[in-house]
Amino acid sequence: MSNTHLTLPKNSKWTVLEEINNYIVKAQCGCGHIEYPQKWDLEHDYLMCDACRRKFGGQGVRKRKDITQKDLEGTEWTLLQTHIKKDVYGHWFSWVRCSCGREQYVTNSNLKSKRSTMCKECANAKQKH
Ligand SMILES: [Zn+2]
Ligand SMILES: [Zn+2]
Repeated sequence: MSNTHLTLPKNSKWTVLEEINNYIVKAQCGCGHIEYPQKWDLEHDYLMCDACRRKFGGQGVRKRKDITQKDLEGTEWTLLQTHIKKDVYGHWFSWVRCSCGREQYVTNSNLKSKRSTMCKECANAKQKH
């Protein structure tokens, strides 16, 4: 059904539904929750969704500064998934959708500070007016 070639750990609760890009898949946790985790995480220590981790004793819960849709008020972004990716500097990224429908990563700090309010294409289009 999928050709994503992922090898999940035996105790993983995830089912890969769809490949989004080279890094991200759409996956469903055993509890029914759907998110967009990184392939690398799925193949290593990301065994279940956060809600399930909390339920099962909180083992391995990541330290996160939570970001919510409220933080994005006044921007074009819709929050799809928080903390899906961490770069080599330790910056967390969220997966967001612009009002024009484009989806991309933005660092959480840029979202929180509203340095990023829309996708590049929308920003360019706005500048032309
Ligand atoms: Zn779950
Ligand atoms: Zn846009």
